[in-house]
Formats: sequence, C-alpha cells, structure tokens
Amino acid sequence: MPDSGNRLSCSFCGKTQKQVKKLIAGPDAYICDGCVSRAHAVIAEPGRTAATPIATIQMVNDEAGAEECSFCGKRRDQVAAMASAGDRRICDECLELCDEILSAEPPLPLR
Ligand SMILES: [Zn+2]
Ligand SMILES: [Zn+2]
Repeated sequence: MPDSGNRLSCSFCGKTQKQVKKLIAGPDAYICDGCVSRAHAVIAEPGRTAATPIATIQMVNDEAGAEECSFCGKRRDQVAAMASAGDRRICDECLELCDEILSAEPPLPLR
C-alpha cells in the first residue's frame, strides 16, 4: 500500500519528502527537484532515459496520444513532450511550472 498522510514520496524515484529538497504535488503524483531535472534531460534528448531506484524515466512517444500527464491531465497529443516513470507521467508544461516552483520561495503547490 502506498504511504498516506505525511509520508509523501516522489512518484518517480521513491524518495520521501525528507530526502529531497522539494517535493511538488500534483493531483495524482509527486515529483522531486531531482526528478524534474532528470525528466528535463530525458525529453531534451530523444532516446535518453534516466534510471531511478524505483523506475526508469523515459520519453512518452507521440504514438501514445491518449497517455495523460499525472499533474495537469493533458494528453500526450496536447503537449510537446512528456516523460514517464512507470504509470506516472509529466508533460513539458508541468516541468516548466516545476522549475518556477523550485526557484520560488516559499514553495507553491502545483494547483
Ligand atoms: Zn524524485
Ligand atoms: Zn502536465
């Protein structure tokens, strides 16, 4: 069973809120600052992947048009790029937002 309550962890690498600098919450997933930069690297370079302790982050190719971002709910065919780790996905637009959140003080929720 997934952790609930105050034991939140990144959906992409499994690290808990205490193990990362910042954890960004979406409606259906969490992503930490480290995975934001990993996902950026993955969508910037076709064919590139990034391994984490619990999954491999990889690009969602455009044939998977119905796959949805776990953070904003947009489908793959509505965004320019998307990265996935297991059954969690994040689009390039949400990654941009994450960058803004990570550089902002105090941290803001994604939605
Ligand atoms: Zn992470
Ligand atoms: Zn998104």
